[in-house]
Amino acid sequence: MGADRKLVLLGAPGSGKGTQAEVLAARLGVPHVSTGNMLREAVAAGTELGRKVSGIMNTGALVDDETMAEVVRERLGRADARRGFILDGYPRTLGQAETLEQVLAGAGDGGLGRVVLLEVPAEVLVERARGRGREDDEDGVVRERLRVYREKTEPLVGYYDQRGLLRSVDGDAPVEEVTRRILEAVG
Ligand code: AMP
Repeated sequence: MGADRKLVLLGAPGSGKGTQAEVLAARLGVPHVSTGNMLREAVAAGTELGRKVSGIMNTGALVDDETMAEVVRERLGRADARRGFILDGYPRTLGQAETLEQVLAGAGDGGLGRVVLLEVPAEVLVERARGRGREDDEDGVVRERLRVYREKTEPLVGYYDQRGLLRSVDGDAPVEEVTRRILEAVG
């Protein structure tokens, strides 16, 4: 069931993607691939990649598709991702979705299984962002991340729906309940 375990989690910032991706990865025995975590690690380690992306990340904007293609190609090329993965934070643009398709076609062991859209009402997203205790100047970054999501990432919903891969899940519930709904939707 290789392809069935190749999942993408889509959702606005604060929708719970990261939390769910971690739980699902453990449950399904596949790696949690978070491009945000990978970039933050690169920044912390002071690598060339980290130096290139830190300024961009601080504004809430997206790192360019070419740079992200290298990151994802390398990560999904590792042995542990062959039989599956939970992608969290990638793809975020239509260009990235096309890159992902090419990377998986090149790997020769099956395309994406499912794309799960975590749906959470806007008021809840705002509440969650506040709950994280953001400072005043970070409020702007939160808003920018949401704006970028709407403009660049939301079109992926239609893209994956057309391909019959999309499953929408109501993410406004306790963590375990949302996990249950996702497993039901992809099962
Ligand atoms: P995340 O933790 O997924 O919200 O990512 C944090 C930040 O890393 C984002 O706001 C972007 O600046 C950058 N980033 C992570 N993944 C991507 C991606 N797929 N494309 C472009 N930028 C990304």
